[in-house]
Amino acid sequence: MSTAGVQQHRVLLAAPRGFCAGVERAIRTVEEALDRFGPPVYVRRQIVHNPQVVADLERRGAVFVAETDDVPRGARLVLAAHGVPPRVRERAHARDLQVVDATCPLVTKTHRETQRFAAAGYTVVLIGNLEHDEVVGTRGHAPDHVVVVAHPAEVDEISVPDEQRVAWVSQTTFLAEDVAAIVERLRRRFPALTDPPSEDICYAVSNRRAAVQIIAARSDLVIIVGARNSHNSANMVPVALSAGAEAAHRVESASELLPDWLDGVATVGLSSGASVPERLVREVLNWLAAQGYVEVEEVVSTVETQIFAKPRET
Ligand code: SF4
Repeated sequence: MSTAGVQQHRVLLAAPRGFCAGVERAIRTVEEALDRFGPPVYVRRQIVHNPQVVADLERRGAVFVAETDDVPRGARLVLAAHGVPPRVRERAHARDLQVVDATCPLVTKTHRETQRFAAAGYTVVLIGNLEHDEVVGTRGHAPDHVVVVAHPAEVDEISVPDEQRVAWVSQTTFLAEDVAAIVERLRRRFPALTDPPSEDICYAVSNRRAAVQIIAARSDLVIIVGARNSHNSANMVPVALSAGAEAAHRVESASELLPDWLDGVATVGLSSGASVPERLVREVLNWLAAQGYVEVEEVVSTVETQIFAKPRET
C-alpha cells in the first residue's frame, strides 16, 4: 500500500505473456505420447527453446537427441515446434521411426509459401537468422532458391537469376520493424518484389510485444523471462527500452536477478517469451515481493483464443 513520502513499489505484469498456442501444442504432444505409450519418447532438439521445459519432460521420460540417427530404429520421435527441413522427416521414415511432427502450423505456413514461390521460379529472400532452427527448417524446403538475410546491408550482396522473380518471407519471431527495413531495401533493389500472401510474424509474437510496450511505458525497469536462445524473448528487451523503460533485462530464471537493478526503481514491468512456463514468472514475482514489490497489477492488452489441432503420427 502506498504511503505519503514513501516510494510505491509495484509490478506491472504483461498479458498476454508466456506460452503461445504452438508451444502448448508441442509440449502437449510429447506429454500425450508419454502418457499413451510410456517412456522413452524421443524428441529431436529442444521441443521449444526453454531448458526448464526440456528438463521437465526429461524427468517424465522424454529423451532429447540432436539428430534422427541418434534414435533407435522403430522408436517414436517428436519433431520440435520450430520445424525441420524435409530431409529430416525422410531420414526418420527411412529408419522406420514413428514420427509426430509438432512443427507449429504458422511455421508450416511459411514452409508452404517458400515451396510455392520456389516452384514458380522465384528467388525467396528469407528474413531471419541463418542459424535459427526455424530458418534452417524453412530454408531446407527450397535450398536452391532461398537466400537468408538478417540485416538491410546484406540485401546489396544478393545476386538473383531473375530480378522480376524475387519474393520474401520471414522468420515468425523476427522484429516487425527489422523485417520492414529489410523489405524496404529489397523493394528499392528489386521493384517487382513479391510479398508473401499473408504476414509471417506470428500473432503471439506481435501480441507479446504490444503488451510489453504498454507496460514499459509505465515502468522504470522491465524484466523479461526467457531462454538465451529464445529469439522472441531477446527481442522484447529492445522493445521495452524503445517504449520508455529506463532499463530492461532478460533472465532465464529468478536466480539471475540482481538486487542492484532495483536501485531507484518504483515500477517493475514483467513479461515472458512464448516458450516460458508461467511458474518461472511466478518465481520472479516471489523474488520481487521479497524485495518489497508486493503490489501486482496485470495489464491485459489482448485475450488470446488461438488453439491448434493436435498433430498426427506418420
Ligand atoms: Fe507458433 Fe508463433 Fe508460437 Fe512460434 S511463437 S510456436 S510461430 S505460435
